[in-house]
Amino acid sequence: MGGHALLIPLPYQGHINPMMQLAWKLVSDGFLVTFLNTDFNHNRIMQAKSRNWDGIRMISIPDGLPPDDKRTNIPNLMEALDNSMAPSVIMRLIDVINEREEEHKVTGIIIDVIICSGLKAVADFYQIPLFAFHTSLVANCAIRYFIPKLLSLGILGHDGAPKEEKKITYIPSMPPLRSGDLPWLFGGGEKMFKRCIRMGESLKQIKGVLANSFYELDGPVVEELSREVEVYPIGPLIPCEFLEGDKRSTSKAPPSFWADDVECLEWLDKQSTQSVIYVSFGSVAVWSQIQVEEFAAGLEATQRPFLWVVRSDLMEGSKPTFPQGFMERVRERSCIVSWAPQLQVLSHPSIACFVTHCGWNSVQESITMGVPMLCSPYFVDQFLNRTYIVDVWKIGLPLESNKDGIIEKGEIARAVDRLLVGEDGAEISKHATKLMRTSRDTVKEGGSSFNNYSIFLHQMKKQLVD
Ligand code: UDP
Repeated sequence: MGGHALLIPLPYQGHINPMMQLAWKLVSDGFLVTFLNTDFNHNRIMQAKSRNWDGIRMISIPDGLPPDDKRTNIPNLMEALDNSMAPSVIMRLIDVINEREEEHKVTGIIIDVIICSGLKAVADFYQIPLFAFHTSLVANCAIRYFIPKLLSLGILGHDGAPKEEKKITYIPSMPPLRSGDLPWLFGGGEKMFKRCIRMGESLKQIKGVLANSFYELDGPVVEELSREVEVYPIGPLIPCEFLEGDKRSTSKAPPSFWADDVECLEWLDKQSTQSVIYVSFGSVAVWSQIQVEEFAAGLEATQRPFLWVVRSDLMEGSKPTFPQGFMERVRERSCIVSWAPQLQVLSHPSIACFVTHCGWNSVQESITMGVPMLCSPYFVDQFLNRTYIVDVWKIGLPLESNKDGIIEKGEIARAVDRLLVGEDGAEISKHATKLMRTSRDTVKEGGSSFNNYSIFLHQMKKQLVD
């Protein structure tokens, strides 16, 4: 027995998925894992599909919001979590687990970096290791960590807004960023900014940060941040079947809030190799009706087959409607689903490119499958991710919006053509294939993520024998 790890993700799909992959890795290394969800998400996961959790104990607690709240207001949920997942609550939870499990007391905690504040004292009390888990690119952690420095240099104002609007180098190890790329300027305003500062302060006390990313993506940033805190990029945290070849089945699929529409895989089987545009905007992004219409018209204008994920809650309060006659006109070459088994989709040979909101999991999954991207970021770290995709790794192109923030149909059709035909496309495809190989090598024995995971594991096990 390797010990008993308590894993606490932030209650969002994009945070639960990689944490669950880490849980499975720990189980295969002999750990008992208790995985803490909020009641709201626990119920959604259980309803979406029944599965064998392979040695993972799924438990849940309330998130502090009323049952009928849709949980779409992120700052509200964050505030509720400050109480419902406060260190005192986690401590009581550990006491309950330890009382029930005399033989298997909790021996380590891994908690999402966004809610790790105050947990160091808890870990110290039980004399167990604590790791913060960062679900995104290390650069996104670093830019938040270095906020105090940016404030003291006068680069940022006290509300987090940059003093100058132009593209500048905020941190020496990072590429120049537009002011709009700063992750705290979306969804949450000043409150979110203060939360980012708190996150950095907590990290100073915690033993280490695990990141679902890999060193080769932003090595200079990892080096710079490592001078302040211990950083362990251990990604990509993706079921090994997808990294090794058998792409159709996995017992370790992500614990989705919605049921997968698996019929889209049969539809993909009927399409030619590298012909399909895959469009998905993750689990949180909300669209306007006009954006839905422009996208529909843009996809139609490409004259290529497409698979489009239109979530039931893609629009707030109403169902998206397509332009008149759209469904009839594209019937022969389209598949529209409410939730796709994304890993299977991205690894399918029919996929040509991924139109994405640049959520980190989607980006890393696309990298791992070698699929070039068209980028239309929605919020938080997604603008920073786009900068890396387009300017640093050169594995995708941006989708530019008009002055009203809408991506017009002509832009979609033009960008798809630029990505899939011509010189730009060939270069991007070459880079995507190269980065795919690197991402797969990094988790193999001797690779950087493999080595980082081994160090982390050693620390998780160390106190079991000390
Ligand atoms: N996902 C999926 N099916 C879909 C859309 C998304 O399984 O139809 C998964 C995707 O593979 C990823 C996660 O949901 O693991 C979304 O996380 P991401 O960070 O990309 O975006 P977020 O939802 O956090 O905005």
